[in-house]
Amino acid sequence: MSRTGIGFDSHRFAPGRPLILAGVRIPHPEGLAGHSDADAVAHAVTDALLGAAAAGSIGEHFPDADPRWKDADSMELLRRVVAVVRERGLRVVHADVTVIAEAPRIGPHASAMAARLEEALESGPGSVGIKGKTNEGMGFIGRGEGIAVLATATLEAR
Ligand code: MG
Repeated sequence: MSRTGIGFDSHRFAPGRPLILAGVRIPHPEGLAGHSDADAVAHAVTDALLGAAAAGSIGEHFPDADPRWKDADSMELLRRVVAVVRERGLRVVHADVTVIAEAPRIGPHASAMAARLEEALESGPGSVGIKGKTNEGMGFIGRGEGIAVLATATLEAR
C-alpha cells in the first residue's frame, strides 16, 4: 500500500527578511513575506504529506490567525506533521520538490536542502529530490515578485 500527495505554495519576496527554503538560509537580497518564517518548500512538503495521509491542510493545522505560529520554524511544523503521519500508521518514503524562481539559483543549495528534509521526514538518505527552475521570465515569478514550490510525498504503511 502506498499513497501519494501533492502540495503547492507561493510567497511574495519582501525586503529585510532572510530567505529560508527547506530550513536552509540562502544568500539573497530579499526573503519571503509570511506569518511564519515563510519557508515555502517546507510548506509545500507539509501539504503533500497531509494530502497523502488525507489529514487536512497546513492552514487547518497551523492557522495564520494563531499567534503560536507567528515567525514559526516551518521545519518544526513539518516535523509535527510527520508525527501525524506516523500516528496514522504511515511513514514517508519519498518526496520530490520543484522550486520555481527566477533567482536565486537552487542547484547550489539542493543537496543541503534535501539533507534537511530527509532528516525532518525521517525518510533516509537519497529519499528527497530537489530541483530548481525559472519561469522563463513570465508572470509574477518572471518579474521576480515571488516564488512558487510544487511538492509530492509518498507514504507507505509502517
Ligand atoms: Mg506558505
